Amino acid sequence: MSLINLSDGVEYVPKSENPLSAEAFIIRASGGVVIYDVGASDEAFSELAKVSGDAAVVLSHFHADHSSNIRRLKPKLLFGGGYTCKKFGGEAVAGDTEVFGAHLFSLPSSHAKGCLGLEYNGLAFLGDGTYSSKDGFNAGVLRETIDRLEKLSAEKFVLSHSEPLIHLKSEVDGDLKKIYDMRKPGENFIIPW
Ligand SMILES: [Zn+2]
Repeated sequence: MSLINLSDGVEYVPKSENPLSAEAFIIRASGGVVIYDVGASDEAFSELAKVSGDAAVVLSHFHADHSSNIRRLKPKLLFGGGYTCKKFGGEAVAGDTEVFGAHLFSLPSSHAKGCLGLEYNGLAFLGDGTYSSKDGFNAGVLRETIDRLEKLSAEKFVLSHSEPLIHLKSEVDGDLKKIYDMRKPGENFIIPW
């Protein structure tokens, strides 16, 4: 009931504020169901529990609003970045891999260690990977983020917590490059606010 259609074969449980919970995406990929992020709300848990039995679960990063429900879902197949898997177990992805026909890739990010993106059917799910930390963007890491995103073939990016959720790749690239251009010599961090 609380599932919302995002695009062909992709539904999601919306975010919530209390508890703070990011969107949880259910992707019906060619080889099976892939869940991208599990959120922290009871609502997300109850929707995901219906489909998680044979699903591959991917965590975008370790932050609680994206990952807390993993402790009660206990999926058989779990993927994350190295840092996420240290915390929750599962198979650590470094670089690129395929799961059920979906492309998983490491995403260098100023927001959190060990971000993992998922590309399927023209959409790239990036979690919070394009966001900064509270200290701003690390200039070197931001350059890596931009370079990684440029190599993706998906033309549309799904950014967690945003409204609307789907953004054109060109807009996100443009925004990140503008921020990168704000860097100052000798300063590691770019604070765009
Ligand atoms: Zn986060």
